[in-house]
Amino acid sequence: MRLTVLASGSGGNAMLVEAGETRLLVDAGLPLVTLRRQLARAKLDVVPNAIVVTHSHGDHCRHAAELSEHYQAPLYVSEATRRSVRLGGRRAPRIFNPRVPFAIGPLTVTAMTVPHDAPQVSLRFDHDGRSAALATDLGEVPPGLMEHFAGCDAVLIESNHDGDMLRAGPYPYHLKKRVGGDHGHLSNAQTARFLRALDRGVRTVVLMHLSQTNNTPELARAAAAEALADHPATLLLATQFGVTALEAFPGSAVAPAPAAPPPRQLELFAR
Ligand SMILES: [Zn+2]
Ligand SMILES: [Zn+2]
Repeated sequence: MRLTVLASGSGGNAMLVEAGETRLLVDAGLPLVTLRRQLARAKLDVVPNAIVVTHSHGDHCRHAAELSEHYQAPLYVSEATRRSVRLGGRRAPRIFNPRVPFAIGPLTVTAMTVPHDAPQVSLRFDHDGRSAALATDLGEVPPGLMEHFAGCDAVLIESNHDGDMLRAGPYPYHLKKRVGGDHGHLSNAQTARFLRALDRGVRTVVLMHLSQTNNTPELARAAAAEALADHPATLLLATQFGVTALEAFPGSAVAPAPAAPPPRQLELFAR
């Protein structure tokens, strides 16, 4: 299984999960031209053949119909998301139920509902003994999230804002309340609290969906690094249009690094 974060943040989200013949695009917040650019930056000469959208917000869902049509790729959403947004497109989406694992080729995907101001899910990906889990856009860590992440090699979790920066920042009051509320986004401190209890087996932690207004990479990294001080995991940060690649090929060597370094962060993850 190979995971590549192609974009992360309120400017658009996209991640590619590759397992066998499955090339699953997770979230469709980028228009085709930008997605192609990011795939090229990641040196991925692949065509997504399935799309899953976590929730109805534009930075995750806006281009779902366009990408699904273009790639002729089925779109997977929860029933709650299907009801909360006009997805468009000619084909009906495939509906998954939170907590009921479903297969996309050899990849098993399991969704868990998390609190946000639109019906939202955390997604777990399992393939051939390797697993990774993603949780962004959640106002607080719900009971059961740690169990949902249990045994994962890689954990991708939002570290959206710094509490002080949000309070002192330029957002209008209602937006500050929304972002910082129980159905908004995780602060660095909330994420750090979650990471302090993280399973020792996790090898890579990726901080996701950082706010460009109410956070800095330094603050997010410092809070998570302190929480993981005694943890062996490698800590990575996904930036809005950076590329972060993680690999987990059981029993085989790390894929060779690309000849020329990509423009932004590229990190490899392997046993
Ligand atoms: Zn978002
Ligand atoms: Zn959202």
